Amino acid sequence: MYDVNAVRADFPILSRQVNNRPLVYLDNGASAQKPKVVIDAITTAYSHEYANVHRGLHTLSNLATEKYEAVRGIVARFLNAPSEDEIVFTSGTTEGINLISYAWAAPRLQPGDEIVLSVMEHHANIVPWHFLRERQGVVLKWVEVDAKGDLDPQAVIDAIGPRTKLVAITQMSNVTGTVVDVARICAAAREKGVPVLVDGSQGAVHMPVDVSAMGCDFYAITGHKLYGPSGSGAMFIAKERMAEMRPFLGGGDMIREVGRDFVSYNDAPMKFEAGTPGIVQQIGMGVALNYLMGIGMDKIAAHEQSLRDHARAKLAGLNWLTVQGNSDTKGAIFSFTLQGAAHAHDISTILDKRGIAVRAGTHCAMPLMEHMGVGATCRASFGMYNTLEEVDKLVDALEFCHELFG
Ligand code: PLP
Repeated sequence: MYDVNAVRADFPILSRQVNNRPLVYLDNGASAQKPKVVIDAITTAYSHEYANVHRGLHTLSNLATEKYEAVRGIVARFLNAPSEDEIVFTSGTTEGINLISYAWAAPRLQPGDEIVLSVMEHHANIVPWHFLRERQGVVLKWVEVDAKGDLDPQAVIDAIGPRTKLVAITQMSNVTGTVVDVARICAAAREKGVPVLVDGSQGAVHMPVDVSAMGCDFYAITGHKLYGPSGSGAMFIAKERMAEMRPFLGGGDMIREVGRDFVSYNDAPMKFEAGTPGIVQQIGMGVALNYLMGIGMDKIAAHEQSLRDHARAKLAGLNWLTVQGNSDTKGAIFSFTLQGAAHAHDISTILDKRGIAVRAGTHCAMPLMEHMGVGATCRASFGMYNTLEEVDKLVDALEFCHELFG
């Protein structure tokens, strides 16, 4: 464990008030707040060290390139990837999964080939596969979750058939917080010769990740949920898979030579990074990942487990509230509905009046909403800086909502 108040002091925004109440930020699943080291790194980069990367032979360009490229190694360390050459920078998970859909899957999949995915995927891990369904007749095979919100890894493994070309699965649901045993899925899929893409958008934020031990082929992270800037992210791509990929976006940086009737490409990973990248965003993500590693992802996971246990116990005492998906393996993300007429949007508006930020809606997971039979939920998603007292404030505010709506 760590001193949560010391961590809170690193995040300037946490000392502000919202609607005359101290901010209780419980919308980390959507995007996390930024520690001062990240904010300072952005200011320093633009104030003293900014130029385009990879191109200039001048001091500032070299400096920016050095800082930017160093982030590849930081990401590789954070994920325990075998090599930084297996890290492709992206603007976030959405771009990362679209990259794999276009550059790896589209040229390889034939009509009738299958992609296995679960009903609790975020749209970012659904829609790029729908493109392949619409455009080239690929079949999407959906694996259900049970009433508790658990995804049985064996059900995913059993869904892998002779036509399966990819398993695309989240490590942690952004709606219910369910954690999936992706290592077991990867091991079984590997035996069947089927690559696995793991959406680590939530998983990487809440637990230590080791892609080498996990044995996945693709692993996506998104910087803004990892306490870094928006517009930053990365994709781990195992080198065998990278060798099978065609280029994605075309433009500067990803080429070696261009003529009137020929083009040749840069080596991977830069082959997949066209144009001016999010230079300062990625530098900021590197600082955020170093900050997390400095504290220790195991300690962050332990702290969040105490938040989860406290929230689970408190919410269980509210018999007019239903937690949607209460898996034993869940992390500190709670989606809930209130009995009666109260709509999730009304609840979140009332909570906001008390300075509590939660999210309401379908959380970019419509198939899961349909599966759970709810139109919308409120979601309280906790992060490394939240406290047990903030859980209590949430519960008090929910009791107030219940009294209001009767
Ligand atoms: N996958 C999951 C599980 C998510 O929670 C999110 C964001 O909410 C995404 C993918 C998409 O991430 P981004 O919007 O940063 O690309």
